[in-house]
Amino acid sequence: MKRVHDSQNTSSPQPGKQKIKRSENLCGSIARKLASRYPRRLAGGAMPRILRLLFALALCSLPVLVHAQESRFTVGTASAKPGEKVTGYLDVPAGIDPGTQIPVVVVRGTKPGPTLALVSGAHGTEYASIIAIEKLIHDLDPAQVSGTVILVPLVNLASFEQKVPHVNPVDKKSMNRFYPGKADGTQTERASYLITKEVVDKCDYLIDFHGGDLDESLRPYAYWVVSGNAKQDGVAKEMALAFGLDHIIISADRPKDLSATRYLDNTAAMRGKPAVTVEAGFAGTVETDDVELLERGTLSVMRALKMLPGEARFVEHPVWIQSIADVSSPVTGIFYPLVKRGTFVGEGMELGYVTDYFGKTIFEAHAPAAGVVLHICAVPTMNKGDNIANIGVVAAKAP
Ligand SMILES: [Zn+2]
Repeated sequence: MKRVHDSQNTSSPQPGKQKIKRSENLCGSIARKLASRYPRRLAGGAMPRILRLLFALALCSLPVLVHAQESRFTVGTASAKPGEKVTGYLDVPAGIDPGTQIPVVVVRGTKPGPTLALVSGAHGTEYASIIAIEKLIHDLDPAQVSGTVILVPLVNLASFEQKVPHVNPVDKKSMNRFYPGKADGTQTERASYLITKEVVDKCDYLIDFHGGDLDESLRPYAYWVVSGNAKQDGVAKEMALAFGLDHIIISADRPKDLSATRYLDNTAAMRGKPAVTVEAGFAGTVETDDVELLERGTLSVMRALKMLPGEARFVEHPVWIQSIADVSSPVTGIFYPLVKRGTFVGEGMELGYVTDYFGKTIFEAHAPAAGVVLHICAVPTMNKGDNIANIGVVAAKAP
């Protein structure tokens, strides 16, 4: 997919000079380096080595926004020169409801390279993912980075501050369903519009961070966003493998209409930028294991993209999920789970049940298909229409 930086589209006050540049010689040498780099033991045999080589070639054939090294790179009010780490805000102006300020950090490497966007907190109580980005803000060293990293740690500030799961309490909308957004919509739509212009349009690759929300017990997994562009999808797949989570959902059914892309990952993918979504953490917790999965995965993707020195660690044999069967409750009452996150369940197996407030069972939830419990409701509160569980149906073969 053709990628063009349209300076008409940016509301940045001081957009850095950008040009689309591709160096065949550099690409050839990267491909050769990568091909020789992966020992058979790590890469899992000769075939994966060939795939890695194809990845290196695909990486090079995708156009990358190369920002003139001396110019500033600006996202919202954060404007960084090479070697700088600068903080600022995406100012969402007031409209039919109040405005807001979304924190943003630009880490500008001393060496040239692509731009990677890391976005978390669309759901402001998926805490592990937010803390992982906060740690990366602290840890990323511009002297080590080739290229630029845009970090948006907390898209949904009101959700975080008010401890409201799933939605932006200002307009009751999920902040990962209204992309590419609207300049004259509600706060969620205006914020989505700004993130599309300031973050998606200015990056080459994007990772969207999520996890189990306050009421979700979730096992870690990634989404590989399949756009239909084979070359781009090959790179996105390698990003998912480099991230290292061992369950990967093949996400091929996102909307293809550019004006209704809904999800952030899909908005990036449909604009020609390889994108993945990653999920870890559950039910309000900030477990070290989950935060480290997200942190280490990000650094590994940066190594795969040659934005950091060192070698990426690719997950060798992930469980590929071909579809998700979701189970919701037709009744309001008290929920009792019978399985845990990550359990493999057979079709028809009971996942849990709902009672009325006197203890009488009024609904039994059964698995509509065999698969992995990606997440299950973590709290007794159950309202009619609420999600009980998502079952990941395992793909017959690896893509
Ligand atoms: Zn989320």
